[in-house]
Amino acid sequence: MQANPAETIPERTHYRACNLCEAICGLEIRVRGTEILSIRGDAADPLSRGHICPKAVALKDIHQDPDRLRKPMRRTAEGWEEISWDAALDLAAERLVAISQQHGAASIAAYYGNPNVHNYGSMTHGSRALAPLKTRSRYSATSVDQLPHQLLAFRLRQMGDHGLARRAAMHRRARPSASPVGCSRGRPLRLKGRAPTVWR
Ligand code: SF4
Repeated sequence: MQANPAETIPERTHYRACNLCEAICGLEIRVRGTEILSIRGDAADPLSRGHICPKAVALKDIHQDPDRLRKPMRRTAEGWEEISWDAALDLAAERLVAISQQHGAASIAAYYGNPNVHNYGSMTHGSRALAPLKTRSRYSATSVDQLPHQLLAFRLRQMGDHGLARRAAMHRRARPSASPVGCSRGRPLRLKGRAPTVWR
């Protein structure tokens, strides 16, 4: 019986760090040639100690996805066409300059995602690539998610107890029959062994 040619290629194990978020969990990746056989947590990693999340396991699916972008593509009237890296970079530079000149620097926005903080190329060249565009439109997970929370917390803190109590009193005056805060179905909330809670 003839041996399967794929099985004659020796298996190898690579130890790498997951590049999907700043936790940089250790990975143990078994491969045969270009085929990924398995992705597991690296038990010897001093930080993650063998633990990984499902995203790291899915790296294999991303790597093998036939629709994954592997080369620069340009959309034309007839569909997508493959172009060289030089042509892609020239096209991007030309369009960025044209858009900036026509609509102003802020019309070009950049979104920084997680891998930027643990990717050498991005860390050393990302800011320098954006600097000539002179745009202030820079966004990240922080600006779209975390900063609104911080702003709300800051505003609530500014209002303080006075602000909230004043508003609650105002609403009670406007609706005297309304249930006091802390009530359940119109009845004062009674905690075991305590007097009914009525907020003033
Ligand atoms: S395994 Fe999950 S938690 Fe760890 S670095 Fe990758 S994405 Fe982040």
